[in-house]
Amino acid sequence: AENWDKVPLAPPDSIFQLTAAYKADTFPQKINLGVGAYRDDDGKPWVLPVVKKATDRLFSDPNLDHEYLPITGLPEFVSAAAKLILGADAPAIREGRVVSVQTISGTGANHLGALFLSRYYQFNGERQVFLSDPTWVNHFAIFRNVGIEPRTYAYYDPQTIGLDFAGFVRALERAPSRSVFLLHACAHNPTGVDPTEEQWAQLAEVVQRKGHYAFFDSAYQGFGSGDLERDARAVRYFAGRGVPMVVCQSFAKNAGLYGERVGALHLISATREKAERVRSQMSVLQRSEISNPPGYGARVMALIMNDAGLFGEWKRDIETMAGRIIEMRKELYRLLTEELKTPGDWQHIVQQIGMFSFTGLNTEQSKALVEKAHVYMTSNGRISMAGLNSKNIKYFAASLDAAVR
Ligand code: PLP
Repeated sequence: AENWDKVPLAPPDSIFQLTAAYKADTFPQKINLGVGAYRDDDGKPWVLPVVKKATDRLFSDPNLDHEYLPITGLPEFVSAAAKLILGADAPAIREGRVVSVQTISGTGANHLGALFLSRYYQFNGERQVFLSDPTWVNHFAIFRNVGIEPRTYAYYDPQTIGLDFAGFVRALERAPSRSVFLLHACAHNPTGVDPTEEQWAQLAEVVQRKGHYAFFDSAYQGFGSGDLERDARAVRYFAGRGVPMVVCQSFAKNAGLYGERVGALHLISATREKAERVRSQMSVLQRSEISNPPGYGARVMALIMNDAGLFGEWKRDIETMAGRIIEMRKELYRLLTEELKTPGDWQHIVQQIGMFSFTGLNTEQSKALVEKAHVYMTSNGRISMAGLNSKNIKYFAASLDAAVR
């Protein structure tokens, strides 16, 4: 017998469960603040105008075929993607020290990066990775899948609803030298809490002195500030200092290409010769995992990133998304502090950046919002700001007010 009766039944994914409950709810004012995808002011998915334009251009090309892409991906996509995150004039790119591989969005980049480390990184003692506490929950499974044990480092301070900077530095200092630290490049998920520029500089100093390896996850470039360059600062600063690193890059959020699975992994080596070795083994790993990455989304992004006009339009579309989210933060803050006089300090709502916000609500309060107010959010108090709009924000503020009184 095949013994599948011994397979333990896994619990359903909490986010997908939340979405299913939201869909089944018939309450007219229900709100979904669980899902991490951008919505426009009507609560609808938004196809970026620049993506529509690039898609039209792509499909009107009579030479478009459906051949396999190279194993490491569409060359004009991966090279533009590397410049987008590392900077067009990055010395590492100029010196041929960056290995870029097209991946199955950010998740695939995390997986391939973790797999490469599990094969070739010389761990100092335990095979472990340090993740921020909290982090995107998938990080745990991705590293466990390749035999690297996840540990956590102090990151979020519930007292201040901000960064536990001292705890973060302490964790870097205490970890064995040459440890692997996963760092969120910008717009930390799930907290929305990022280090400041000065704090990044101090973190980089410790990382470098301890010989740690920086595993950057960049899933929200542009989504934090509305500016692609600004949101790449931490990554570029570490790269500029010569910290050994890899960057996982996703185009799901900043191009609204969630389902197309467009991403890349960029590994920076100390020399071109080392990069060539890395490139050869990345190809071997990719071949056994997916053979060749998917073409469609990479072609769309290659068109957008390599055409000055389209690139400019993309930046404006990103500003539209980030701008709307920032507006919602300001409006929520105003409603809570000025109109409703909700008890508590709500500064963090406007200080946090990106798609998500940690409200500071406890499990009980978060559950009350779901059960009493039909506002669907995770029990850790996280809300997706993208789920708020000019039509539902008053109802949400009033519900939040009721939950904390
Ligand atoms: N990394 C972080 C921190 C994320 O929040 C996400 C998506 O929510 C991802 C990676 C991967 O997303 P995707 O595989 O859709 O690019």
